[in-house]
Amino acid sequence: MTEKGKLIVVSGPSGAGKSTVIARVMKDDPDVAFSVSATTRAPRKGEVEGRDYHFVDRAFFEKMIENAELLEHAQYVGDYYGTPKLPAFENIEAGKSVIFDVEVQGAAQIKLKCPEAVLIFIIPSDFSQIEKRLRGRNTDSEEKIARRIETARREYAMAEKYDYIVINDDPDTAANEMKAIITAEKCRASYRKKYLNEVSL
Ligand code: ADP
Ligand code: 5GP
Repeated sequence: MTEKGKLIVVSGPSGAGKSTVIARVMKDDPDVAFSVSATTRAPRKGEVEGRDYHFVDRAFFEKMIENAELLEHAQYVGDYYGTPKLPAFENIEAGKSVIFDVEVQGAAQIKLKCPEAVLIFIIPSDFSQIEKRLRGRNTDSEEKIARRIETARREYAMAEKYDYIVINDDPDTAANEMKAIITAEKCRASYRKKYLNEVSL
């Protein structure tokens, strides 16, 4: 019997490097799948429909909410973001660990519905890096950068509720931390019961 995959929820302030670190983890681990969210925000240069996000309009997004197609959803800096249920659970049933890149409200909703989810918060060691990286990424207006930083301050207050904190000063080191967490979670005794059940006294 295939063991179900793990739910790995990754949050952190915009600019912390979530996408960068997740991409490195996925490159090294074929057993990990990414939960592709739906969003009403515009695609950034280089983002690919269906790989990074499903880019939809507000009416389409609201239909998905109405049809109960989303595991969770939230508004962030004026746009909708949400997790389609079906593909995530298909991957989990097939034994793949699924990474959900979601902000803090979405993470709380997933934890409520799936208490077995593992929650990882990712930050640089120095908060000032957030603004530097958002400016360096060059994808957001001044107004959006200011709103993302303001939101980041509130998000930091939630970090203690997470199971793990990954520090992203160097993307490879951060990816190694995330891979170590996934490996450790797969080694939990509760996850490895099948190796014990077949031995009788
Ligand atoms: P997030 O997904 O958390 O919003 P990104 O992965 O888009 O963050 O990273 C934000 C910007 O910071 C990008 O331009 C990325 O290349 C850069 N970046 C990511 N990790 C690091 C790091 N450890 N040091 C310096 N820059 C980084
Ligand atoms: P960005 O616009 O930088 O890609 O993402 C903005 C924020 O939305 C990030 O904190 C990211 O984690 C979050 N996010 C992305 N997808 C989802 C989702 O499906 N649900 C929720 N709740 N947040 C999401």
